Amino acid sequence: MELTISCKKNVFDIEHLEFQYLENVPVLQDINFTIDHRPTAIIGQNGAGKTTLVKLLKGLLKPVGGSIYYGESDMAEKTVAMLAGEIGYVFQNPDDQIFKYHVIDEVMFGPQNIGMTKEQAKEKAVAALKLVGLEQLADENPYDLELSERKLVAIASVLAMDTKVLILDEPTIAQDWKGRKIIQKMIRDLSSQGKTVIAILHDMDFVAESFERVIVMAHGKVLADGTKEEVFAQKDILGQARIDQPYLTKLCQQLGYKKLYFSLKD
Ligand code: ADP
Repeated sequence: MELTISCKKNVFDIEHLEFQYLENVPVLQDINFTIDHRPTAIIGQNGAGKTTLVKLLKGLLKPVGGSIYYGESDMAEKTVAMLAGEIGYVFQNPDDQIFKYHVIDEVMFGPQNIGMTKEQAKEKAVAALKLVGLEQLADENPYDLELSERKLVAIASVLAMDTKVLILDEPTIAQDWKGRKIIQKMIRDLSSQGKTVIAILHDMDFVAESFERVIVMAHGKVLADGTKEEVFAQKDILGQARIDQPYLTKLCQQLGYKKLYFSLKD
């Protein structure tokens, strides 16, 4: 008897993925890649298909062709509810997510929704608010906060669920230097805990500082996929996707340095 032992190590395996909202208008075409535990940035111009792709990874949309596996699970057979405790997703616009009148209630909602007790949820919510530097705003009404703070509340409300995967759509929108540093540290901490962070970003300097792997999308296809060193060295591909190199990388190239620089520490 033949014994087949399956030992997939990837977090996601995506094969020949196709998606369209409207008949005969392809939005994603023949997408093939795997996601492992490295923090992964998805970059590309507006309309490239990035949000559609991450909604498919969250299970909010179903493939029209091809497949997405989350570990051993075929996403086509899973509902969002079945994976709610596994895959966290922070919407681009926090107002699509926030609906409670106190920050603490908002952040406790997710953990309670996946079965934690009120006490457990409160503990997770307080820890998540601390991680994003908003513990002093726990009793505020989220609608009274600034956009940058509402975005951090939305991130905390997903962090509190302690999911294995965290998908962030444009986490740095409206963030100042302090907010960017908080998010950068959060990504590092989650990654060192063995969690998978996937983010859509337009801010190439943030990508260069905080991510190891970069996927470039254009017109519903993957143009490049590799380490940031590999991807940011390909000026022609970046040009096709209408993406700039990170500022420091561009500057150092103009000065004639051979090594690609991503931060002043490099
Ligand atoms: P990105 O995140 O890279 O900006 P999107 O995934 O949002 O790209 O959009 C990819 C394409 O799908 C765009 O042409 C967009 O207009 C289209 N699209 C997005 N959402 C819908 C929808 N709900 N119905 C129809 N078309 C959509």
